[in-house]
Amino acid sequence: MWLVSAVALIAVVAISTGAGRSLLPDRDAPDPSPSATADADAAAESPRTTPESLQEKVPTGPPTPPPEPADIRESITWRQSTALGLPMSGGRLVDGVQLPSSGPGFVTWDPVLKEVPNRHWRRYGHDDVVRTVLNVVDRYREEFPNAPPLLIGDLSRPRGGDFGPQWGSLGHASHQNGLDVDVYYPRTDRKLLGPTTPSQVNPRIAQWLVDAFVATEPQFVFTGPSLGLTGPPGIVQALVNHDNHLHIRYYNPDSAG
Ligand SMILES: [Zn+2]
Repeated sequence: MWLVSAVALIAVVAISTGAGRSLLPDRDAPDPSPSATADADAAAESPRTTPESLQEKVPTGPPTPPPEPADIRESITWRQSTALGLPMSGGRLVDGVQLPSSGPGFVTWDPVLKEVPNRHWRRYGHDDVVRTVLNVVDRYREEFPNAPPLLIGDLSRPRGGDFGPQWGSLGHASHQNGLDVDVYYPRTDRKLLGPTTPSQVNPRIAQWLVDAFVATEPQFVFTGPSLGLTGPPGIVQALVNHDNHLHIRYYNPDSAG
């Protein structure tokens, strides 16, 4: 009796699992029925649903991260800034604009912690300066599509003011009113680090950067004395401690004349 019951139970289980499986969609199902194929042909001729438009909706490959804004400028809180005082003395920045920590073609660099990105309070500038830097980044991306992102260092503190050694490392004699920005020369080994020796600097890109920033009509572009970079005398000047970055100083756009 027990044996008969057990056999009957196995038979019931086998039948029910088999029936269950048959209800599931079969990955190896044969081609659609002729009527379904005819529908697909009709759809192909319809201007509303073409096979191409259907294919675009089918996800392929691994999931992609959420898209960045089409333009990094859209993520910036723009304000009309005012630079007060002088870059090296008594400078202040009113309504400064924060450069994003990174964006297409650039990453900010913390020259004290020697890491990316730069801390938030070290990247405030006059809105004209932030706009100009992003324009040069765009040109850089077009010119060197395979180069590593540009490392952008310190601008000014949120309200400007002294940016000396008490803020880390050597500090800055200037960078007080949002009109100065440091940009690091890309390295030949492509590492996202500031160069530590002149031999690590990609000389072709370094000279291109000098030329690109000169074209933005700055007051000064300071470069390192060991790099042999050239530009209009009086604007491009060699300065110690600038063999690993350019320092661009802009005229105060709020000053008359
Ligand atoms: Zn500087």
